[in-house]
Amino acid sequence: MTLRRSRDVPTLVAAARDGDPRAVARLISLVEDGDTALPDIAAALAPHTGRAAVIGLTGAPGVGKSTTTNELVAAYRKVGRRVGVLAVDPSSPFTGGAILGDRVRMQDHATDPGVYIRSMSSRGHLGGLSAATPQAARVLDGAGCDPVLIETVGVGQAEVEIAGLADTTVVLLAPGMGDAIQAAKAGVLETADVFVVNKADRDGADATYRDIQGMIGLGDRAPGEWRPRVVRCVAARAEGIGELVDAVDAHRSHLVTSGALAARRVRRAEAEVEAIALGTLRARMQDLRTGDTLSTLAREVAEGRLDPYTAADTLLARLS
Ligand code: GDP
Repeated sequence: MTLRRSRDVPTLVAAARDGDPRAVARLISLVEDGDTALPDIAAALAPHTGRAAVIGLTGAPGVGKSTTTNELVAAYRKVGRRVGVLAVDPSSPFTGGAILGDRVRMQDHATDPGVYIRSMSSRGHLGGLSAATPQAARVLDGAGCDPVLIETVGVGQAEVEIAGLADTTVVLLAPGMGDAIQAAKAGVLETADVFVVNKADRDGADATYRDIQGMIGLGDRAPGEWRPRVVRCVAARAEGIGELVDAVDAHRSHLVTSGALAARRVRRAEAEVEAIALGTLRARMQDLRTGDTLSTLAREVAEGRLDPYTAADTLLARLS
């Protein structure tokens, strides 16, 4: 059987760890599809995960996320690191690289075996970004990618979600988009570890830079707490990328030395476990609904033979 179709988890995980892109692709597909092999995949990967720096990049459409991601990949490749990229599009119905295949700016790395790029849709996944993306990131981590970059569009909820997934969250802004104000409104200030003022070649970049610095200055921070860095970039000309890498590295060092990395990862695992448990509960509940357990209880409640609380307790007892 070819790797592309395989469901042989030990073989797939071993091949992915050897850097076989087909095995990585297959594992992510299984993860995306919520395949029954998912628990086995997670168990096989677990001992090999936790090494990658997970970096989230987010911002409004057109701000320069994919251009910046492309340049970051180039920077990390220059120092010999294997890089994984997940481009999550919350609005797109396409999965499996369909969009990214067309995205010219990422094509620089299309033939580099040290780079794995995958686009994912979060539409249709229960729980949106939070459902399949952490598992896909685990696949890349387990396959030896470090860093794992997670790029996603949006202002608002997407940032908050990505901040839950990433060790370091990079929020991109560009002059003239009212971004600084939008960012403040959407609560992005609390989630961003690094700000990029991209398109610094454009008028208004200095004002955006000052606005964001001003807002950071207003924030309450405990002593020793990370102060978000602001980096100016012209991603289209690969300018400022070294500074961005430095800022991300500095944040990572801060996380490690302060112990916050471990705390963040525990919080992340908490959300992950809770999401999986809720998913399982939902599936079991559905079984009870399609079987006649719920309808039998409901009939008894409707006829006054049982109270709804006792009925609910009976249902809950069947769930476990
Ligand atoms: P995304 O939608 O956030 O991924 O943004 P893209 O990376 O696709 O970039 C949107 C557009 O902005 C493209 O036409 C880029 O070439 C352009 N762009 C990206 N970075 C810069 C920059 O630093 N300066 C200027 N002037 N244009 C840029």
